[in-house]
Amino acid sequence: KVRTRFAPSPTGYLHVGGARTALYSWLYARHHQGEFVLRIEDTDLERSTPQATAAILEAMEWLDLGWEHGPYYQTKRFDRYNQVIDQMLEQGLAYRCYCSKERLEELRQNQEQNKEKPRYDRHCLHDHSHSADEPHVVRFKNPQQGSVVFEDAVRGRIEISNAELDDLIIRRTDGSPTYNFCVVVDDWDMGITHVIRGEDHINNTPRQINILQALGAPIPTYAHVSMILGDDGQKLSKRHGAVSVMQYRDEGYLPEALLNYLVRLGWGHGDQEIFSREEMIRLFELNHVSKSASAFNTEKLLWLNHHYMRELAPEYMAKHLAWHMQDQGIDTSNGPALSEIVSMLAERCKTLKEMAAASRYFFEEFDSYDENAVKKHFKPAALAPLEKVLEKLTALSVWDLQHTHQAIEQTAAELEVGMGKVGMPLRLAVTGAGQSPSMDVTLVGIGRERVLSRLAKAID
Ligand code: GLU
Repeated sequence: KVRTRFAPSPTGYLHVGGARTALYSWLYARHHQGEFVLRIEDTDLERSTPQATAAILEAMEWLDLGWEHGPYYQTKRFDRYNQVIDQMLEQGLAYRCYCSKERLEELRQNQEQNKEKPRYDRHCLHDHSHSADEPHVVRFKNPQQGSVVFEDAVRGRIEISNAELDDLIIRRTDGSPTYNFCVVVDDWDMGITHVIRGEDHINNTPRQINILQALGAPIPTYAHVSMILGDDGQKLSKRHGAVSVMQYRDEGYLPEALLNYLVRLGWGHGDQEIFSREEMIRLFELNHVSKSASAFNTEKLLWLNHHYMRELAPEYMAKHLAWHMQDQGIDTSNGPALSEIVSMLAERCKTLKEMAAASRYFFEEFDSYDENAVKKHFKPAALAPLEKVLEKLTALSVWDLQHTHQAIEQTAAELEVGMGKVGMPLRLAVTGAGQSPSMDVTLVGIGRERVLSRLAKAID
């Protein structure tokens, strides 16, 4: 059974590169009816923070990438790592190294002078003059001969000679296990069948495979995903604007849009651009993951967002919109349902942030009008249409699309002016803005009482 994992180090927020790795791992598990594990790699005590862990979990939840197992925390598994290390010492798969910093430094300098690759010379493997209570590290006895070969599911066959690999330190002098070792034990214990991760980890893979092999553990399939670049060809970073997943939420993107964007950034199915969650799950395979780096393109993300704003059910979108209404301090208790706001504004807005801002007049009074619109539409000639339409609207017995529309139409007919000569000043009077959905929709959305009082105020 397929089991994948996402293993972030909680040293900061979840960035889009991490999110894409998480997505691919999640998709691969879902596609194969497997399981997905979340593991927090928090062994770097200086750089890991509980806030970062919380931020990563929040982003995973916002993206709705659920997991069957975890979150596991490496800091809670030190006993297990040490148990495996002790066992390896007993079986001669690892050895204690007592070499001083000075000796290692001297060794390194000599090797450098002889143009050799810096490498531990196994002095302590043969020297038995020390006792285990002296300070020491534990090193893995890496094979001396042959090479490590693996078939990367993205990059193809990779072969590294063991002569390139050092006897890796797996436990520090202070007794703490090292990063590569924890990953190995975890992937083994957690039954991971497919390791999907960033290509920045590719150098760790042969070392990890050697340890797994020594332990008699199954070797997972590895897939190393390429980097994400900014539009200038440099590795994506804060300089390029938003890199944190939650920043995209703050800017009004839907998780569906970001996921669709990320799945296409480095994977493809023909030239199809739009993928629902179900489609991604059905179609995702590692053999179509790209080997080359991909450049982040905000325009395309915005385009996808607008697509999903129009596509997704208003009731669903309303939940996400509610967050933005609150974020912008708009009290929505008195006004139309948020799903109606979505229906009214989805066509006109590219982000939820924009939508929230554009919907304010449905919920709150305003005390100034859009200046450009005032110049265009609050001319003396607008007074008569406003007065007449107020009269007609006041007289309506039913406040719905049809009747409000008729009131505008009749006003224009009686004054012998175009609909726009009534509609535009009316719009400005009741919304404070030069743009809104069609007038009947806007009037019904705002509601009778507010429309009439705003109109009266504008005429005043
Ligand atoms: N913790 C590593 C990171 O955040 C990932 C390690 C792995 O996937 O093996 O980059």
